[in-house]
Amino acid sequence: MNQPASANGLAQTLTPSFTLLGAGVSAGIAIGYAHLVSTARLEVPQYEIAANEVDAEVVRFDNAMAQTQQALADLAASATQGVAGELGAFVSLHRMLLADSTLSQTPRDIIREHRANAEWALVQQMDRLVEQFEQFEDAYLRERKHDVEQAVERVLKALLGTAHTPSGPSHEEDVIVVAHDLSPADMILFKQHKFAGFVTDVGGVTSHTAIVARSLSLPAIVGLHHARELIRENELVIVDGAEGTLIVNPDAQVLTEYQLKKRSYELDRQKLKRLKTTPAATLDGTPIELHANIELPSDIETVVEAGATGIGLFRSEFLFLNREDLPTEDEQFEAYRQVLEAMNGMPVTIRTLDLGADKVLPGGERTAGPNPALGLRAIRFCLAEPGVFLTQLRAMLRASRYGKLRILIPMLAHAHEIDGALGLLEHAKRSLQGEGTAFDTDVPVGGMIEVPAAALSLPMFLHRLQFLSIGTNDLIQYTLAIDRADETVAHLYDPLHPAVLQLVAQTIRACDKAGKPVAVCGEMAGEVEMTRLLLGFGLRQFSMHASQLLEVKQQVLRSDLGEVTPLATRILRNTESSKVHTLLERLNT
Ligand code: PEP
Ligand code: MG
Repeated sequence: MNQPASANGLAQTLTPSFTLLGAGVSAGIAIGYAHLVSTARLEVPQYEIAANEVDAEVVRFDNAMAQTQQALADLAASATQGVAGELGAFVSLHRMLLADSTLSQTPRDIIREHRANAEWALVQQMDRLVEQFEQFEDAYLRERKHDVEQAVERVLKALLGTAHTPSGPSHEEDVIVVAHDLSPADMILFKQHKFAGFVTDVGGVTSHTAIVARSLSLPAIVGLHHARELIRENELVIVDGAEGTLIVNPDAQVLTEYQLKKRSYELDRQKLKRLKTTPAATLDGTPIELHANIELPSDIETVVEAGATGIGLFRSEFLFLNREDLPTEDEQFEAYRQVLEAMNGMPVTIRTLDLGADKVLPGGERTAGPNPALGLRAIRFCLAEPGVFLTQLRAMLRASRYGKLRILIPMLAHAHEIDGALGLLEHAKRSLQGEGTAFDTDVPVGGMIEVPAAALSLPMFLHRLQFLSIGTNDLIQYTLAIDRADETVAHLYDPLHPAVLQLVAQTIRACDKAGKPVAVCGEMAGEVEMTRLLLGFGLRQFSMHASQLLEVKQQVLRSDLGEVTPLATRILRNTESSKVHTLLERLNT
């Protein structure tokens, strides 16, 4: 057994040290105390409340209940028509269930009786109720157990924000979030916090959860399998986000070693900041556009700090998550305008809704389907819900007066999808013109190349659209038939697979020939090992999270197109993985 260490003088119990391996999704070292979080009901933490804190725990439970009831009441008030109208019935049912003493009173008794934390008490009671519902003969009543679960989850989410950590760190900066799974919607909520790092049991490196973690510039690891089960609340942990290593209860020597590594990593990051205003160009003088990916308007601050020359991908669907209703046209307009104004005349590429797969609206049965990644996702959803799509297009067009807007359509595969989307855009334009609302009539419209069928039928895209953007995250997922969010097949997610490289390279080449701008906006664009390869394929426009931009810029500044292009061509001709890796290493030295 090792001598336990402590990060900032807090005493630790004598516990053995162990290491877990996963997939690092965001580089850097974080050292802090584990905080076990959960949004899934079965994983709520269980801990004992000190006798003198029981009253406060009951108050915490009451407050979460009241907060949830209030949120539901607000929602009921806004739920009047369409999607929101259907939601109204569920909202009323959830309010009724939560008001019943079986959920509002019994958990309070459990807290007192067992000195249990509020989450655990609530889940105990929910399990009992669910069991009772399961006994009903009537199928309709039996199904209502899901409403009990959903209503309770709402309260659990409210409790999550006020989690009780009896002897834990007093600063968020010392907290490492440990979860079995986090949805992209959960992850986006963490943007409001200042945690030191994140680790999860499941998830792939290009899942949207991992992408948002990376955008936070925080060390993060996914696919650790059993971290949530093995780690206890407040244990000291080290996250090495580059290596994907999680060390639990490190001994003093290991801790010192990682503290040094952390400092050296932070110094390197600090030095990179000097490149902020340096124009991105290769050694031979070819200018390269380095744009940023964002999820929310609040991300703009980091984009400006990194010196990005535009927004290459605004994942607008994140405006739709973590809420029960849909954002109105005015709300969306304000969000888009904010970004366009902040970018001060630089291009802002807003992607139309890419809902579905791992990004679902509450009550999102519509996009669930038997295989959500192959179902009603992105443009398919928008064309099936023209009202929702038109609202977004109108909001975008209205905002176009405030900067240099470009509209990007995701997951296209068919000509009729492009035509359908362009038709609805025309419709939105006509409706605004009819009202006398001004907008930029020449907003460029582009398409994402992220389905192999699209990459193999480029003329169809080039005839209809003004620019293309390659979404390598999905292009890899759909080319190799592996779910990007599934850690059990994460080892098969290979950006260097010859099929993937062929599709990327030929898309860049075709755009170049046709004189149409093309970017890569998938994670590949932010991976410094891929920068020279993409430059060698002819790519001149990259879009990535702001946290990756300066490192990529440094690599661009060190690259000579005369040298990288022939090697990239050799890599493209090669189909043997080992050879491709050797050549890539040579390209990067
Ligand atoms: C992609 O698929 O590469 C992409 C940029 O879109 P998203 O990651 O949001 O699916
Ligand atoms: Mg995509």
